[in-house]
Amino acid sequence: MKKSVITLAVSATVGFGTIFGGTSVITEAASISSLKGEQNKIQNQRSNINSTINQKNNQISNLQNQQANVQDEITRLDDAITDSTNKINETNAKLESTKEEIMKLQGEMEVIKDRIEKRNVLLKDRARSYQDTGGMVNYIDVLMGATSFSDFVDRANAVVTIMEADQAILKEHEADKKELETKQEQVKTNLESIQKMVTDLQTLQQQLNVQKADKNKALASLKQQENEAHEGLMDLQEQDALLAAQQSAIQQAIKNEQAAQAKAAAEAAAAAKKAASSNSGGSSSSGGASSGATPGVSSGYWTQPAVGYLSSGFGQRGSERHVGVDIANHTKVPIVAAADGVVIRSYLSSSYGNCIFISHSINGQVYTTVYAHMSTRLVGSGAVIKKGQQIGVMGNTGDSTGQHLHFELHKGPWTQDKRYAINPVGIVPLP
Ligand SMILES: [Zn+2]
Repeated sequence: MKKSVITLAVSATVGFGTIFGGTSVITEAASISSLKGEQNKIQNQRSNINSTINQKNNQISNLQNQQANVQDEITRLDDAITDSTNKINETNAKLESTKEEIMKLQGEMEVIKDRIEKRNVLLKDRARSYQDTGGMVNYIDVLMGATSFSDFVDRANAVVTIMEADQAILKEHEADKKELETKQEQVKTNLESIQKMVTDLQTLQQQLNVQKADKNKALASLKQQENEAHEGLMDLQEQDALLAAQQSAIQQAIKNEQAAQAKAAAEAAAAAKKAASSNSGGSSSSGGASSGATPGVSSGYWTQPAVGYLSSGFGQRGSERHVGVDIANHTKVPIVAAADGVVIRSYLSSSYGNCIFISHSINGQVYTTVYAHMSTRLVGSGAVIKKGQQIGVMGNTGDSTGQHLHFELHKGPWTQDKRYAINPVGIVPLP
């Protein structure tokens, strides 16, 4: 047995009354108060379990609130992602229209370039016509070549007009060039800013997606925690059900004890009347179905549960607390009940393997025995069992390495924390 957590479910408490009503189960008087003490122990365990159940329920609603919050954040992120997607689409459209604008502008540039080209030609033509008419390029030469004052004035006027015209052409030329440069600059800046906008939006969307993935991860983890809490809750409820079953068994034992005491008192009175005395030696030994390897049934309340050798004792074993003893054998020997009792539970556990829990009431003291890792179980829940009666066959089921019987003795009920587990050595005959 390695794991301490096992899942228990009580199927039925039917049949509990019968063992306690039998002849040899409760023999001693003054045991009622001790039975009531057992009831209190179980009641304490149950209130502990119930407060743990409340804690678990709080934990679950807390986890559910956290999940709702995370879900809200995911919805908010989804909205932001949709928003950024829309903005990316809008900006991409803007990018397209800007590119179209650039194309248009390039067309305009061609026109301006063409105009500049034409003016250049014009200016060259004008310079050439001077050479043709005056034979000189230089305006001063033109003026110096005047033949009379009126000719000089004519020439000067002509030169001024031509110079002004050339100046105007040059100014237009400059303006065209500047306009072109400004437009180019503007469009370039515009394009860059739009491209940056798209990049920024894409980065933002990436961040939002990362955030969303984180939130989804957080949500999944919360959901898992909640599932685990639900599982824990189920375990606790099953434990409580087991304890309740044991409680009702003890309640029946108290009733039977009271009846037995009343009967004993009446018989004592009758015997005194007759003045006759007789001893009744309560022999409680009754042989179970014994094959070759079945242990001999001891007298007294307890008998050895299986033939074999003690492979592990009770107590600390490395880092774990071994709450039982292990009896190993190479052959599949029978497992027998260690005392008279009733089967509380007979089932296949993931940790205990094929296991049987038996409740015993000895002199008003409740004992619980556990037989684990069996290959076969021969009795079911609610079965009334005699000391030495075969209940199963040794095996290697559940959390077990090697064929053995893991045997637990609890002075009181079995509880999840196994607080009533005691060392059977000196109480139950062992190999
Ligand atoms: Zn063991």
